[in-house]
Amino acid sequence: MADNTAGFWETPAAKVLRFRPGMQIADLDRRGTPGFVGGKTEGTRVLHERGAVLSSLQEKLHANGRSGDNRSVLLVLQGMDTAGKGGMVRHVIGHVDPQGVDHVAFGVPTEEEKRHHFLWRVTKALPRGGQLGVFDRSHYEDVLVVRVHDLVPESVWCGRYDEINQFERELVGTGTTLVKVAMFVSLDEQKSRLQERLERPDKYWKYNPGDVTERKLWPAYQDAYQAMLDKTSTDDAPWYVVSCDRKWYSRIAVSELLIHAFEGLRLEWPPADFDIDTEKRRLAES
Ligand code: AMP
Ligand code: MG
Repeated sequence: MADNTAGFWETPAAKVLRFRPGMQIADLDRRGTPGFVGGKTEGTRVLHERGAVLSSLQEKLHANGRSGDNRSVLLVLQGMDTAGKGGMVRHVIGHVDPQGVDHVAFGVPTEEEKRHHFLWRVTKALPRGGQLGVFDRSHYEDVLVVRVHDLVPESVWCGRYDEINQFERELVGTGTTLVKVAMFVSLDEQKSRLQERLERPDKYWKYNPGDVTERKLWPAYQDAYQAMLDKTSTDDAPWYVVSCDRKWYSRIAVSELLIHAFEGLRLEWPPADFDIDTEKRRLAES
């Protein structure tokens, strides 16, 4: 089953989506479905089938974590409003047992967070051993919204790219596999998603008038995203660039990137820490 659905990828997602030096996001087809040969029907099927694979891999990581393995996987989702970060959590991470997931959404820093270094709140939110961590926004906001709105002087945000690279290198060195996904929606698709939020009572809660203000800063955000990719896609922690105008595609792409990361851990089920025959006998006699 796993092989059939993975077979819809003519080029593995981890290869086709990996940011390559010199790649320009201005040229990215945000309705594109690179690497995948099927359409929405196949994509929807693949999402469910690969969701089951992801779930089983995560359970294995969790089981190992219970036996003292401190490794973890951290999915970092960065994207403009309406790119589909929340849907990614529901439709991809939703396949995984919630007790194995450490999910954190980063908003405007609190007063307390503002008094600390920008990596302080991120460090506190890192996944525990055996867990799949999910960051809905992340430390990268500190070189995105902060850069676009001049929330700190340029001399400060400029140094953050190196600080982030150093931070992530240490993270990887201590057993966390990072899966960094930059999600790109087009300006037109964002407009129609915001329109939907204004037309449907079940979507009002997602609408934020500030999102329309941010649309005026679209070019500055695109520049900030380009700089982020140019400066922080490292061998330790590469960026993956995902087109998000088709939600079904972005979801199967991220499923595949996560499966690739889990497979890299070469996980086995932890051995029993009790004598199996003795326990079978005791159970039979009980
Ligand atoms: P949402 O993800 O739609 O709930 O919105 C969260 C908001 O928090 C976004 O507008 C982000 O730009 C903002 N945000 C997240 N991190 C930071 C940060 N470090 N500094 C300023 N604003 C931030
Ligand atoms: Mg929002």
